Amino acid sequence: MENIKVNLALVLQQIEQSVQLAQRDENSVRLLAVSKTKPVAALEAAYFLGQRAFGENYVQEAVDKYHALSHLTDIEWHFIGPIQSNKSRLIAETMHWVHSIDRKKIAQRLNEQRPSDLPALNVCIQVNISGEASKSGIILSELDDMVSLVKSLPNLRLRGLMAIPAPQHSHSDQCRVYEPISQAFLELSKSDSMIDTLSIGMSGDLAAAIESGSTMVRIGTAIFGERDYSAKL
Ligand SMILES: *Cc1c(COP(=O)(O)O)cnc(C)c1O
Repeated sequence: MENIKVNLALVLQQIEQSVQLAQRDENSVRLLAVSKTKPVAALEAAYFLGQRAFGENYVQEAVDKYHALSHLTDIEWHFIGPIQSNKSRLIAETMHWVHSIDRKKIAQRLNEQRPSDLPALNVCIQVNISGEASKSGIILSELDDMVSLVKSLPNLRLRGLMAIPAPQHSHSDQCRVYEPISQAFLELSKSDSMIDTLSIGMSGDLAAAIESGSTMVRIGTAIFGERDYSAKL
């Protein structure tokens, strides 16, 4: 726990360095702190160090933390995990963002279930960029179709694209695997000024993701330490 302060500062410094190296604008990359499996106290610690955006993968855990931290009124909740249709309502009622839209049915349910007193739910479409390595995400040839659908749903606001690549062995391979999604994001954002988010980059490939145009890196381990799944399950 006492390392969160040091870790967070280091991650922010790495982001800044990568942004400079890539000759990108200052503040063009946001940090999403991925807090799955971590206790509420760890999120609170990061919050009091200035972190506002938190990413969670498991619906019940996300909702429990949302309620436990409801006194922190400007905290921002991002859902980044797979979504089962019977859990979509809980997500629609609590989250500010969803990064893992990869089925039309889920997009439609979130749109229907979004409470009318909340602003539109910010969403990213998840793209599968490393073939068989992952079961989640649409393939790029399905993107236009999915973009049209999401844009037609009034209670969702399409913000961009998200991907989780298979682990690569080198910095150059990490960059190469991001090429197709970087390109797709560039085209999409040119056509629509609301589309401003490329959600790529985790603890192991932060620099490559920023070089590839990431605007939001999702960092867990480098901030909160290794996850202990046995403690949760
Ligand atoms: C767990 C997770 C992360 C964070 O991964 P780290 O390697 O711990 O930084 C980012 N994105 C998604 C979708 C995740 O599930």
